[in-house]
Amino acid sequence: MASREKNPLDRAQGGATAAGPAAGASGLLNGMEILEALTQGVAIFDADFRLVHHNARFIDLFDFPPDFVRIGMSLEDIMIFNRERGVKDHNNPTTTLEGLAARVARRAGPFRVELELPDGHVLALRHAPLHDGGFVNTYTRITSRSLAEEHSRQALALLQDVLANMADGVRVFDKDLKLIAFNERAFDMMDMPKELQRVGISYQSLTEFNRMRGDYDSDDSADNISMEDRVARARSGTGRSSLQTLPDGRVIQKRRNAMPGGGFVSTYSDITGLKRTEEALAEKARALEAALDELKRSNTELEQFAYVASHDLQEPLRMVGSYCQLLSRRYRDKLGEDGQEFIGYAVDGAERMQKLINDLLMYSRVGTRGKTPAPVPLEKIMEAVEQNLKIAIQESGGRVTHDPLPVIMGDDVQMVQLLQNLIGNALKFRGEAPPEVHVSADAAPGDPRRWRISVRDNGIGIEPAYFDRIFQIFQRLHERGKYPGTGIGLAVCKKIVERHGGVISVASTPGAGSTFSFTLTKEGSANEF
Ligand code: ADP
Repeated sequence: MASREKNPLDRAQGGATAAGPAAGASGLLNGMEILEALTQGVAIFDADFRLVHHNARFIDLFDFPPDFVRIGMSLEDIMIFNRERGVKDHNNPTTTLEGLAARVARRAGPFRVELELPDGHVLALRHAPLHDGGFVNTYTRITSRSLAEEHSRQALALLQDVLANMADGVRVFDKDLKLIAFNERAFDMMDMPKELQRVGISYQSLTEFNRMRGDYDSDDSADNISMEDRVARARSGTGRSSLQTLPDGRVIQKRRNAMPGGGFVSTYSDITGLKRTEEALAEKARALEAALDELKRSNTELEQFAYVASHDLQEPLRMVGSYCQLLSRRYRDKLGEDGQEFIGYAVDGAERMQKLINDLLMYSRVGTRGKTPAPVPLEKIMEAVEQNLKIAIQESGGRVTHDPLPVIMGDDVQMVQLLQNLIGNALKFRGEAPPEVHVSADAAPGDPRRWRISVRDNGIGIEPAYFDRIFQIFQRLHERGKYPGTGIGLAVCKKIVERHGGVISVASTPGAGSTFSFTLTKEGSANEF
């Protein structure tokens, strides 16, 4: 190819050097010197994309290996070599000569692209066509500027993505209270028009707009704060949070936080749902409290009623009982056998009623006659209980044993009642074998402040279906004739334990025995009477 041998600088000079060969030669020399003196890399290609000239800087910038670059080599070889060692041309991913030729043809004039070298440096490539179809490429290292620009562009894009995808609204004001960044959500949430959504708008204009339509946040009142004050407050009042209720009922929480260089970031969160839930919960809590008060009141009334009724019933009952006994004594002969038997039933009934009334009185007194809690050594209580139950224990032929027992916080009289009821039941509801009753203590599961006391027997046991029922007042599982009782004992136990802040439960295998367990506050722990 003829054009390959010609030096385009020759030609470039040719047009302008009418002064003859010497002038031409010195012009060429100058041209070459200038080329070498440039900080840019220069490579000149002919119309066939063959290298006709280059300066040393061209080799330096690309860091080509020695002897790689030869005059006459194809640009395609250079491109392929570059691609293989990882040089990227982001604007033009095709590295074929056809691709490049198409690009050159398409652009027809000078153009600029950037090449990224494997070491991260970026070269700006300026392509300038020559009139014979060849072209000059100049390469300038622009790494630092371009990367910094790229980084800030990426950071900005990230920031915009984050802002656009946030559930909260955001506005950022600079130290002069001018809007410098925001997301649409901030304006949508506050129902503010699109015209106001622009960088540069002042905090004052936005606030003015709100004031015109009557929006105030919770610390403003409609008339007592001037615009100047508002702006002044915005300037100084960073780190604050306020609520604003919009005309449609939505509640927006606004927070303002200072930025290091002055100015602040305002965030807007729609907390309407949260507020509603909060209000609904508060409403429920109020209703619950009212119901609890009502329950307490009716419970107290009931206790008082039970107390008064049982107390007042005792007197007439005593009268019925004693007069029946008197009748039976004085008119024994006249009454005959039937009469005696009937009177016997009446006396028995009156006695049972007396017992019921006594138990009811005891039950109603648990809450009203309790003493303030004090340390109670359960060992001592056990002694008293065993003493009280001495006859029952002897008669049953059984044994009552216990582990070392702790000191608890409580009411000693009620502790005697509690253990006596449970141990009494254990003796009463015995099976064929002599009763073995054992009292033990361990830590209450999941409650480090309490002990768990257990009363275990080897008696008749209870069907699991009745575990709850037996703690209710007057609930019994047996005929009176078989096991005497009124069905109040366990109800009293439950009431005592609950009054002490504990819980009572039973575990049992019918025929094998039962274990009643209850929890009590440890000595030294806060008690909850
Ligand atoms: P009472 O002992 O007067 O019947 P309680 O309230 O003390 O009333 O007990 C209710 C019922 O629970 C008893 O009638 C009995 O059926 C059952 N029960 C209580 N303690 C035991 C026990 N240790 N073993 C088996 N059953 C029991």
